[in-house]
Amino acid sequence: MQPQARPLAPTYQERRWELPPGTVVHHGSAEDAVGTLRGLTITALTGAGVSTDSGIPDYRSPDSPPRAPMTYQQFVADEAFRRHYWARNHVGWQRVHHTEPNAGHRALVALEGRGILHGVITQNVDLLHEDAGSRHVIDLHGRYDRVICLQCGRVTSRTRLAERLDALNPGFVESVLAEGATVTDIETAPDADAVIEQTSHFVPAVCEFCGGMLKPEIVYFGENVPRERVQRAYAMVDDADALLVAGTSLTVMSGLRFVRHAAKAGKPVVIVNRGATRGDPLATLKVDAGTTATLSTLAERL
Ligand SMILES: [Zn+2]
Repeated sequence: MQPQARPLAPTYQERRWELPPGTVVHHGSAEDAVGTLRGLTITALTGAGVSTDSGIPDYRSPDSPPRAPMTYQQFVADEAFRRHYWARNHVGWQRVHHTEPNAGHRALVALEGRGILHGVITQNVDLLHEDAGSRHVIDLHGRYDRVICLQCGRVTSRTRLAERLDALNPGFVESVLAEGATVTDIETAPDADAVIEQTSHFVPAVCEFCGGMLKPEIVYFGENVPRERVQRAYAMVDDADALLVAGTSLTVMSGLRFVRHAAKAGKPVVIVNRGATRGDPLATLKVDAGTTATLSTLAERL
């Protein structure tokens, strides 16, 4: 069985972006990116594409099945949905530690160590930048390893919740896996009746302090990134000479706003992504390539 992807409910799944016909994009190679960024300090903005080489699937790749993202409203309003969510999250959680950073993450660590990279703003919740050794990371959309109470606001670790869910649902994980279902089945078929049936007896946990509703500390569709976090991210963009975007099609404003901010300030913006991105018209340079190889080249040559 393949290692299970770490973001058990990816919030901002990558989508393909179509540019209007006639849009002018300044395409170039990794070597051109070296030329554009040489001598400058850089802030990086990363997305799902940076983690695909760690085995985390890009749900919106051309070959992947269509899958509607979960919304905050759905999570809060629908008890059956929430039960199912926590059931598959609990099963998937067992495999969390299989995911490891790749050479792209490590390239950013090397650039930071040499004082070239100022920091990383990431749309990923997988903590792979931190695992690789990046020190200045803003987890724009939250992190998979924490849980927040929507009533009292207390934050607890996902590890602690796993213990509590195990106690509430003894043998659940084993029984699901024993019936022949794989974690992947549960993960990729959120609406399938057969899978719902398997999770209908699951008992979700409530906050151990106040009895309130628990939610992963992840920003879902329909939620805003906390204002303070957005301000820190803008400041990180302001503190560098250039913005390097890697592995995101920038389809959500959450990330795109930083590209607009940098471009407005006259800073070079280099975008590395397979396929078009919503930020391409604003980019000084667009490198249509994989992030692992391109970031490695930057780390070697800058
Ligand atoms: Zn609480």
